[in-house]
Amino acid sequence: MGNHMEKTVLVTGGSRGIGAATVKKFAKDGWQVAFLYKEQDEAAAAVAEETGALPIKCDVIDREQLRQSIKAARVYFGARSLDAVICNAGISSSGLFTDLTDEDWELLMKTNLEGAMYTAKYALPEMISEGKGSIILVSSMWGETGGSYEVAYSATKAALVGFGKALAKEVGPSGVRINVVTPGVIDTDMCRGYDSQIIDGLIEEVPLGRIGMGEDIARAIAFLAGDESSYITGQVLGVNGGFYI
Ligand code: NDP
Repeated sequence: MGNHMEKTVLVTGGSRGIGAATVKKFAKDGWQVAFLYKEQDEAAAAVAEETGALPIKCDVIDREQLRQSIKAARVYFGARSLDAVICNAGISSSGLFTDLTDEDWELLMKTNLEGAMYTAKYALPEMISEGKGSIILVSSMWGETGGSYEVAYSATKAALVGFGKALAKEVGPSGVRINVVTPGVIDTDMCRGYDSQIIDGLIEEVPLGRIGMGEDIARAIAFLAGDESSYITGQVLGVNGGFYI
């Protein structure tokens, strides 16, 4: 059970990539951390062991499971509300838009957009009644500028930006902040699917001259989650090495 002095955070998609880096950052900063993951038990167990974070196997598409898991994290911490929620779980899909199947689109939208929306929806009532909390939506640079061969993915990520801005206006008066992070090209399993020539081509377009690491995103998320950013809400923070300005 939780120490009430410590802040609490739930990260979705914490078993790998950006989410795992984020779990590690919060744990290092002294937060109590729980994270959701879909299926990779070994990766989740490794993150949990390294950080002491609570792993919860939960597919964000399953609304009832999601609602129960968010509640379980809060109860485990012994907290009246979560201090921060990081809506990070996501999948990519690339290919010509004209080849997109209904099934591809449904899975993308349910995971990237609805998964994040419902994570926020289920965590918010307690945050609102406690009058505090910070939600961070992990969108993508492609949601801002549009990615060819990633049209449907870009659409789900752009939708998160609109969702986050509107929600920030609605819950700001209740003391809850909502911000969006838009990563550029980040070295995770999601990117490892691309061949190295494509990645090298992308890196050439990055003014800071390197691919991003999960830790680069985790530090931005941690800033937006904590009190250092207490007057910032409804903003979109690009963490992309200058790729898209
Ligand atoms: P990874 O593929 O490395 O990791 C994805 C994580 O999300 C895993 O922990 C996975 O769990 C979890 N996950 C996926 N689907 C679900 C689901 N239905 N329910 C619960 N958990 C799920 O991705 P990244 O770390 O690269 O990406 C994280 C976020 O950042 C995504 O939203 C992505 O769109 C965004 N992003 C990534 C960029 C990049 O270049 N990598 C760039 C811009 C944005 P499990 O391990 O069990 O599969």
